[in-house]
Amino acid sequence: MLNQSYTFKILWLCIIFSSCLSSNPYESAQQKLAPIYPFKKPAQKGDWLYTRIDKYQSLNDYIKSKPTSTDSIRKKIYIMLIGDFDSTQKEIVTGTAEYLHAFYGLQIDFIEMRKDADIFANSRKHPTQGQLQLSAKQIMNVVLKPQLPKDAATLIALTNYDLYPENSWSYIFGLGSTKERVGVWSMYRFGDPHKKEQKEQCLMFTIKTATHEIGHMFSLPHCAKYECCMNGSNSLRELNSHPTYFCPDCLAKICWNLNQDVHANLERTENFWLKRNNVTAKEVYQKSIERLSK
Ligand SMILES: [Zn+2]
Ligand SMILES: [Zn+2]
Repeated sequence: MLNQSYTFKILWLCIIFSSCLSSNPYESAQQKLAPIYPFKKPAQKGDWLYTRIDKYQSLNDYIKSKPTSTDSIRKKIYIMLIGDFDSTQKEIVTGTAEYLHAFYGLQIDFIEMRKDADIFANSRKHPTQGQLQLSAKQIMNVVLKPQLPKDAATLIALTNYDLYPENSWSYIFGLGSTKERVGVWSMYRFGDPHKKEQKEQCLMFTIKTATHEIGHMFSLPHCAKYECCMNGSNSLRELNSHPTYFCPDCLAKICWNLNQDVHANLERTENFWLKRNNVTAKEVYQKSIERLSK
């Protein structure tokens, strides 16, 4: 039987331990933000989650998984362009780079692809549509990995060619490695930015896919709990229905990983949308900042 003073010591230790847990600023932000973010809508036929289960991962599980992160040397996001981009397409690239800087809070640099890089190895013609498709895995393994700069947290390629991940798939918007710090995404299916009515939507799709793939590169899995930028997408319709923002769970994970203040992240991202006058996104950030300030 425990004596009384020993029991009190254990009680005090429990109180101290539980107060440590609840003072974790990322967990606390997650809890404060949770009530204002909508849960994931039930999947419709053809949606990513209609035939798949994306397992829930808590903040603690993410921490325990030792995710890919930045360090004192690896602290930039590099972007490599694959294909010829005209000035209109480059505006989409610049807008996306600005968003990535706001959201991830890291310096964004561009890197030129080596002239001898073989982007067409394992490329194919789409089985029914006929267009040339680059192999996303080939780009990651043969083009990006050998050029990964020493100070890169991640290196992501943006291409205007269509992509496929493996022969049984029709296409893919993007692919990011959760361990090897490389990824690739494509603008091919995001509409024609030269058409005025499609330009903003092309930017939104590009931002969503880049943010999502870089999330994977920082070892975030797909999110199935909330409507979230880390939701899996099977189609442009589904991608269109996903938000640009991260849910409270994914936001807490990425801010913990990059050692960033959640409030500062929300303010930077809100400023990006304020400049672009995007009413929907800006409302989410305003509400979130208000919740965190309480
Ligand atoms: Zn994904
Ligand atoms: Zn999420």
